[in-house]
Amino acid sequence: MVLDGLRRIVRNFIESREYETSVNEFVKELQKELIRSDVNVRLVMDLTKKIKERAAEERPPPGLTRRDWFLSIVYEQLVNLFGGPERPQVKPPKKPWVVLLVGLQGSGKTTTAGKLAYFYKLEGYKVGLVAADTFRPGAYEQLKTLGEAVGVPVYGEPGSKDAVSIAVKGVEFFREKGFDVIIIDTAGRHHREEDLLAEMEDIAGRVRPDEVVLVLDASIGQQAFEVASKFHNKTPVGSIIVTKLDGTAKGGGALSAVAATGARIKFVGTGEKIDELEVFDPKRFVARIMGLGDLEGLLERVKKAKVELSEKDVEDILEGRVNMRIVYKQLVSLRKMGPLRKILEMIPGLQVRMPVEVDSKTLEEKMEKWLAAINSMTYEELDNPEVIDKSRVKRISYGAGVDPEDVKALLKQYEAVKSISKQLKRQKNLLAKMGLD
Ligand code: GDP
Repeated sequence: MVLDGLRRIVRNFIESREYETSVNEFVKELQKELIRSDVNVRLVMDLTKKIKERAAEERPPPGLTRRDWFLSIVYEQLVNLFGGPERPQVKPPKKPWVVLLVGLQGSGKTTTAGKLAYFYKLEGYKVGLVAADTFRPGAYEQLKTLGEAVGVPVYGEPGSKDAVSIAVKGVEFFREKGFDVIIIDTAGRHHREEDLLAEMEDIAGRVRPDEVVLVLDASIGQQAFEVASKFHNKTPVGSIIVTKLDGTAKGGGALSAVAATGARIKFVGTGEKIDELEVFDPKRFVARIMGLGDLEGLLERVKKAKVELSEKDVEDILEGRVNMRIVYKQLVSLRKMGPLRKILEMIPGLQVRMPVEVDSKTLEEKMEKWLAAINSMTYEELDNPEVIDKSRVKRISYGAGVDPEDVKALLKQYEAVKSISKQLKRQKNLLAKMGLD
C-alpha cells in the first residue's frame, strides 16, 4: 500500500509528551516516510513546513484534543496535496470530449484506454477508441481486443506508421458519427525519447485534444517528477491516472507527478481487469493511508461498491428506476463485496426481501456470460430492458456467443434488481412520511 508507514506514525503520535516535541517527532517521521515512498523531496519539505507552521499557530476548537486537532491539520494538508477535498470532475464538459492518453510504455496506457472506454460507456456515453500507437507491435490488436470486450469501436490502421495521421483521422471518424467521448491511445516508446515526445507534441498540435491525460505507473518512483515534466513541457497535462495502485508499489511518485504538472489525479487503476478503475477520491485516499476511521473494512467494501454505482445510480435505484447498466454495475459490486443480502444487512433500518439470492460462485461463472450479453445489447436495450423480447434474446445470445438461457437468466436478475429497487422506494417514501428522511 502507498505510504504504508503513515498509519504507524499516526498511531505513535504521543500526546503525553510536550505538544511541540510530539509535533516535531511526528514531522520528522512523516518526512522520512514520504521520502521513502518516493515523494519529491522539495514537496516533502514544503508540506511539513506548512504542517509545522499551522500546528504552532492554530489552537484546537473546544472539545477537540490537541492530538486530534493536529492530525486533522496533517489530514487537510495531505488532502490539499492531492488536489483538495473535492472529488475530481470526470463528467465530460462538452461533446465530443477528446482525450489523449500519454505515458511511457508499460505504464498501462492501453489497458487504461479500455478501462476508460468501459467506464464512460457504463455512464451512458457513446465512446470511441483510437489506436495511435504505431511503434509497439500488436498495440492495435491489444486495443481492438479490449474494445471488443467492452463493446466499444476502435479506429486503427494496422500497418500504418503514421501515428499523427491515424489520430487525426480517428478523431474525425468518431466526431462525424456524433460520438461523445473519443480516447486516443499513443505510443510509450520510440527509439529515441525525443522522437516520442515530438510525436506527442505533433498529435496534440494537430488533434487539439480537450484533455491530455498522463498515465503513470505507481511504481515509477522518483523518476515520476522528471517523466511528468518532460511530457508536460510538450503536451500540457490536464490530468493524471495512476495505475497499478493495487500492487505493493510505493505510490508517492504519483504525488511528484502532481507537483510537476499541477494536474490532478482523476482515476486510479487497481488491477488488470477492465472494471478496476476508480475515480480518485482525495479525502478517502488520505483517510485510508493515515489509517483513520474504525469502520475501515466496511468502508473499504462500500467504497468499492460506490465506485461501481454513481450517485445518480443510487438515486435512480432509490426512485425505483433501474436499467441494465445499473444491473451490471451491481453485479460487479456484488462480486467484490459478497452477497448483496449481507451488505444490505449491514445498513441499519433497511429491510429488503431478496427475490433471488445469487451465491457468489454461480455469479462468478455467470458474470462473463452476462457481460458478453450486456455488451451485445443496443443502447435502447441497455436503457430499457423491457423491450427485449424473444427474438432480441436470440440475437443477443447469438452476438455474445452464449446460450439464450443465459440471457434469460440475466433478464431475471434485472427483474430481481428492479423489484428490490421498488421496495427501497417504498421504504424511502415511508421514512420520508415519518420525517426520518
Ligand atoms: P502500455 O504499454 O502503457 O500500453 O501498457 P499496457 O496497457 O500494455 O499495460 C502493461 C501491463 O500493466 C499489462 O500487463 C497490464 O495488465 C498491467 N496493468 C495495467 N494497469 C494495471 C493496474 O491498474 N493494475 C495492475 N495490477 N496491472 C495493470
